[in-house]
Order: sequence, then structure tokens, then C-alpha cells
Amino acid sequence: MSGGEESQWEQSGLRTKAIHAGEGIDPTTGASAPNLVMSTTFAMSQPGGFSISDFEGDDAPFIYSRWGNPTVRQLEEKLAVLENAQDCIAFASGMAATAGLLLGTLDSGDHLVISDTNYAGTAELVRQTLPRMGIQVSIVDTSDIQSVRCAMRDATKMLWIETPANPILRLSDIAELAEAAHEYGASLAVDSTFATPIATRPIELGADYVVHSLTKYIGGHGDALGGAVLGDKKSLTRLRNEALVHQGGVLSPFNAWLIARGAATLPLRMQAHEANALVIAEFLESHPRVTHINYPGLPSHPQHELAKRQMANFSGMISFQTSQGNELAHRMAQELDIIHYAVSLGHHRSLICWIATDDIMASTFQLPDRQLEAYRSFAGDGLFRLSVGLEDPEDLCRDLDRVLAG
Ligand SMILES: *Cc1c(COP(=O)(O)O)cnc(C)c1O
Repeated sequence: MSGGEESQWEQSGLRTKAIHAGEGIDPTTGASAPNLVMSTTFAMSQPGGFSISDFEGDDAPFIYSRWGNPTVRQLEEKLAVLENAQDCIAFASGMAATAGLLLGTLDSGDHLVISDTNYAGTAELVRQTLPRMGIQVSIVDTSDIQSVRCAMRDATKMLWIETPANPILRLSDIAELAEAAHEYGASLAVDSTFATPIATRPIELGADYVVHSLTKYIGGHGDALGGAVLGDKKSLTRLRNEALVHQGGVLSPFNAWLIARGAATLPLRMQAHEANALVIAEFLESHPRVTHINYPGLPSHPQHELAKRQMANFSGMISFQTSQGNELAHRMAQELDIIHYAVSLGHHRSLICWIATDDIMASTFQLPDRQLEAYRSFAGDGLFRLSVGLEDPEDLCRDLDRVLAG
């Protein structure tokens, strides 16, 4: 994106940016809505080389859709404006973005410090694949700055956090961690999928990279997988070559088009997700069957003050525990009328799923059995993760209440 485009949006609010950034009236047809360009190849006006390096730069023509596609580029520009980032790379999924950033940045001998609570795919990739590549990993509670500082070494190249973190909705303080990472010459990467740029813009707080699963809130309708990495122009130009063009996990133009259409209403949807989630969270907190609830927007959340500081919107993710766990999960899968018992999140439809404690431990923490037992007796067995959708909140409460009471 050119500097000119950045300043074009300086005066605009998020709703205007979400609708107009990256788009424009088609100069040939006058079409008001963005075109969907499915072409994989583009006719050249003169013969050229066959290396991406021949076609770098903002004004480079489109050559081949793995190197760049006009519809995908429009989405990248929209997301860069929303995150206030210099550039954005779209990927085929959130995991392609995560793997692209980690494997495209870390070399053998480098050290990564990562939060002990992550999306399961991220945790598994870091635990299984990175060590095989000779990358050292330290897993710490990134909500505790002292633990992070203790884990940093000379070889530390990246600090990776997810905030709010799946599924316990624990926050990490981005500004504080950016400062600590930079002191050690490391970069800070933030998986901001649960927050979205409407709640938190990590780059404005000092982070170097932002990662999104576009499959969730940004796409918002549960019909397109996608992912993105955002950051400064120089780092992303190198990353685009290595992690996108050569590893090849590019976003389909059709998905880019769907996700851009979803992103246009992101600010309005996030307002509605938050308003609904607050109603449901209060309902669950006062429900006799619910033993514990995590929602950053409730004063009972242990980091509610940080949430108020760091999140302009508390988002729509709630997790809670009941005394019944597994048995109630079975009933929910059978008996919920409106809420779908399904994984994923951030859609207009409400989604709920139960995560057994063993699965939480296997995918997030790495605790020895003794600690696992201690955790289980402290926190109970399993956790319900509820992605509050955009339905009428009374209907959602009624749906939950009927199954909870059963
Ligand atoms: C879903 C998710 C991912 C992975 O994204 P996909 O699009 O499913 O590949 C990564 N991080 C978080 C926080 C997620 O919720």
C-alpha cells in the first residue's frame, strides 16, 4: 500500500474504513461493488522473467495468482487499513498464516517464547514441528511479565501471544510485552483473532506482527476459510516470497471476496456481538448450574481492568463451566434449537462446544500429570466455549436455560 493511501484514511472512522478501504468504483464498468477476479494468470504486455523478484513493488503488474491477485489484494489493503499496518498478506487459512509467519521468520538455532495458552493448532505446530526444525521453544504464562522476562535469551527471536487466548480468555498486555520483546531484540507477534481490529490494534501498541484467522469474526459468516499476517512493509515483502509464494498456501479469490464482504460490516457486527455477549454472560454468571464463567467484559474477570484498557470491544467469546461437563455437552448437541453445537467461532450464528480438560491440557498447557490433577480439582472437568452470535439475546438465553435446566 502506498503512503498516499494510508493518509487517505487518516481522518476516517473504522466503519468507513471497513466499507471503503481497498475498494473503489471499477474504472471500466462503473461497478460499485468489487469485482471477483478468478483468473489464475494475467496477459502480459511484454515478455518477462519467471521469478517473483521480477515483479516486486506496489506498481508491479499481476502475473499469476499465487504471486498476487487483484481481489485478494483488495482484501489485504482493507485489512491493513483496519489494523493500521503498513502491509498485509492473506493466506488460505489462519493456520497457513501462523505457520507462514513462524516458519518464515525463525531459523534453526533461534528461540521462540510463546504463551502457554493458544489455539490448539498453534500449540501443536509449535510443540511438534518447530523443534524438528531446530527451533528452541519456551512456553510461559504471558500474562505474567516476570515469567516472560525470565524466559528471554540472546537467541530469542520472537515472542508469540494470543489475546484473549483460546479457550480460557486470558489476556496478555501487548504494550508491556512489546517493550520486553524489543529490549531483547525479539519481535512480538499477536494472534488477535478473538479481539479483531475493532477491539484491539496490536501494531498501535508496539507489536511487530498481527495474525488473524479470517475464518472467524472478520469473515464473520462461517462460509470461507482464510488467514492474514500484518506488519511492516519490509518484513512482509520478504515473508510474502518465502511463506506465501513458495510455500503456496494462498487464499482463493472467491474466499477473499466473501471475507471482504464480511469485513465491511465488522464494526457493526462486533458492537452487536459484544452487546449480546454481555447479556448472555450476565445470564450465565447468575445461573445456578454454572460454576465459573470467563468473559473479559465482566467485572469478575481477573483482568477486567486490562480488558478495559486494551480492548475497545469485549468481543463475543465466553467460556464457562458447569458441574455436568461431558453429560451436558451430549445434551446440548442433541437438544439446542438455535445455538449450533460446533467448533469455530465469530460467526453470525451462535456456536458452542465443550472442550475436555485433557484436550485443553494437550493442546494448550504442557503440565505434568500431578499438575493436571490439581488443575482438574481446582477448575472442574472441561469448559464450554460459546461464540455468541447475532441472534436475539433472549432467544439464546432461553435455548441455554432449557438445556441447562434439563
Ligand atoms: C481458528 C483459529 C486459528 C486457525 O485458523 P483457521 O482459519 O482455522 O486455520 C488460529 N488462531 C485462533 C485464535 C483461532 O481461533
